Amino acid sequence: PYDGPSAAEIARKRAEYLSPSLFHFYSKPLNIVEGKRQYLYDEHGRRYLDAFAGIATVCCGHCHPDVVDAITAQAGRLQHSTVLYLNHAIADFAEALASKLPGDLKVVFFTNSGTEANELAILMARLYTGSHDIISLRNSYHGNAAGTMGATAQKNWKFNVIQTGVHHAVNPDPYRGAFGSDAEKYVRDVQEIIEFGTTGQVAGFISEAIQGVGGIVEVSPGYLPLAYETVRKAGGLCIADEVQAGFARVGSHFWGFETHGVVPDIVTMAKGIGNGIPLGAVVTTPEIAQVLTRRCYFNTFGGNPLCTAGGLAVLKVLEKEKLQENAFVVGSYLKDRLRGLQEKHEIIGDVRGTGFMLGVELVTDRQLKTPAKEEICHAMEHMKDMGVLVGKGGFYGNVFRITPPLCFTKEDADFFVEVMDVALSKL
Ligand code: PMP
Repeated sequence: PYDGPSAAEIARKRAEYLSPSLFHFYSKPLNIVEGKRQYLYDEHGRRYLDAFAGIATVCCGHCHPDVVDAITAQAGRLQHSTVLYLNHAIADFAEALASKLPGDLKVVFFTNSGTEANELAILMARLYTGSHDIISLRNSYHGNAAGTMGATAQKNWKFNVIQTGVHHAVNPDPYRGAFGSDAEKYVRDVQEIIEFGTTGQVAGFISEAIQGVGGIVEVSPGYLPLAYETVRKAGGLCIADEVQAGFARVGSHFWGFETHGVVPDIVTMAKGIGNGIPLGAVVTTPEIAQVLTRRCYFNTFGGNPLCTAGGLAVLKVLEKEKLQENAFVVGSYLKDRLRGLQEKHEIIGDVRGTGFMLGVELVTDRQLKTPAKEEICHAMEHMKDMGVLVGKGGFYGNVFRITPPLCFTKEDADFFVEVMDVALSKL
């Protein structure tokens, strides 16, 4: 049993000593003291089904014993910055990670977060091309440092620092986008940015395959191949931000970009890669990687033994437990069941996503697509009271984000849908 400080005591300390910008979803924030596989437990031992572990980086399930064992064994052996010495943990994980990527994507740079990974990717694109302009998509999230905040395209996440050299293309959003699912029209905008906003040469293009923070928006089918072609003609590199969609989450493939049939020049990742430990990576080709030999590129803890030992264990668990297959089978089932819920509840405007990266958008008017901002908060609170944790996002904050650990079962999916059904009925 838990004998630590009460939720009220923690809340008091948080208010006094932690950032005033921290937020939480519930009127009474939960005090979570333990996690096991797809479940979280509060201080009273109450169990919650965690359908939003994806945001918190967990793919194998909370505290997976294989990952815990790998980390603790390594922590007892050596934890250091391994940039200066040889150590097998970083080399073994780099090799295993590279084997998961297509084509010539074989050189790995480790970082501590997704932000750092994207900063590095943008830096490499600029160095390699000698150009400066980056194109990213409206509604994207790429991080919170100067460069990545520039690439992020939602005002909620931006402070008014100078953000030069980033152009935001019209979002190829099939549900709310100006051109519906018409990939060609959206790509025309990328072409026009290049022609009317740059010298005609760009450093690169960065995008998620499924926008996570943006509210589980799958970019229109056919968009990425055309956008990549357009950007490459202007000399730019194509960066796939796989921080949320990567690591088997989309089910049908290991990486989100693969669902669009493209091969990027640079891939960035974080979150799921370490099942909860701070770890990120950039993978690129040997030729592009060469640009970082012009100066020293040093990252004290990027690829440290503890995190890379954990990362290798994650890859093994994904394979051993066939979690990608599970994300595909159970994710497809869950999406079907959510579509069923849409027929019953007028407030559900859209159900979308792939595998275990699913979104349910709430609107008060299906024709006008008016965001149901208040309603979603009430529904989340009801769901929490019934033992289910779910996320929300999107520019209007009206989209349920369903990104469970990849070990989520069909029974969990049924329970989730029943609870959402009751919560929406109560509105
Ligand atoms: N890219 C994407 C797609 C993300 O969702 C996030 C985090 N929400 C990041 C980058 C930044 O990752 P981090 O918070 O680890 O810096």
